[in-house]
Amino acid sequence: MPLQKDIGIVLRRLDYSETSQILVVFTREHGQQRVIAKGVKRSTKKKASTGIDLLEQGRIVFSQRPGKEDAMATLTEWRQEESYVHVHRDLYRMYAAQYGAEVTAQLTEVNDPHAMLFDAIVSLLRDLATIDPVAALVQFLWTMLREIGLRPEMSRCVNCGRDAAGDRMLHFSSHAGGVICRDCEPHVVEKIRIDGEAALILATLNGAAPDGGEGGDEERAGAGGTLVHAVDAAVERADRRVIHRAFEILDYHLTETMGKQARLRGPLFAMMGQAERGK
Ligand SMILES: [Zn+2]
Repeated sequence: MPLQKDIGIVLRRLDYSETSQILVVFTREHGQQRVIAKGVKRSTKKKASTGIDLLEQGRIVFSQRPGKEDAMATLTEWRQEESYVHVHRDLYRMYAAQYGAEVTAQLTEVNDPHAMLFDAIVSLLRDLATIDPVAALVQFLWTMLREIGLRPEMSRCVNCGRDAAGDRMLHFSSHAGGVICRDCEPHVVEKIRIDGEAALILATLNGAAPDGGEGGDEERAGAGGTLVHAVDAAVERADRRVIHRAFEILDYHLTETMGKQARLRGPLFAMMGQAERGK
């Protein structure tokens, strides 16, 4: 069986037997992979092994059966590169990271690579060390939605094209793909009322990294750094609550897209509520 080498991050882990695990790994060059890691939890006399951890990053070698590339692959080697300890030490950060991992697993296909999305997950896990968990998550989701072609239009009404900046009476429709102005809102069935300031933050992120603009990957990666600062500055400048409202818009869009709520949604919203009250 041909061996594939890549770098990956564990999005989901499932104990399969006493010594084996099934992992959903998002790799940089091969997209999502479901692998069985046999004997990975086998302990030696010297040290107990709990296997490969959630959100761990490592060098992966796996084998796929020719013609059965969509089936489960076999993990033959895993060398941990980064464990993102700061994420595991804080429940709020952990929920934000797991929410990002869960929607990535849901919305990407096996063997469909998105290198930029892989890099965005790495950025998310790193950013969680220093910036507000929800701000980091909003930044990640915004990049993810671009990569999978589902980024909504936040600057102008998707129905009539009217500039929506500064509009206080705004709605959002997932199926229509963005904001809906006051005049068009009565004609749209699937919609939620949204916070104008939160919509503006997302629209600002759009401006910071224009889609399909000039410049290659390098330039886009550079713009990614500015984006993080844009969200970060927004947290400083505005209220943390505005960032939370921005996340709620994206969560609504993702829920409509996936046809179900993310499992981590409830715990994350509870933490957000605590953070708002504690301020
Ligand atoms: Zn309109």
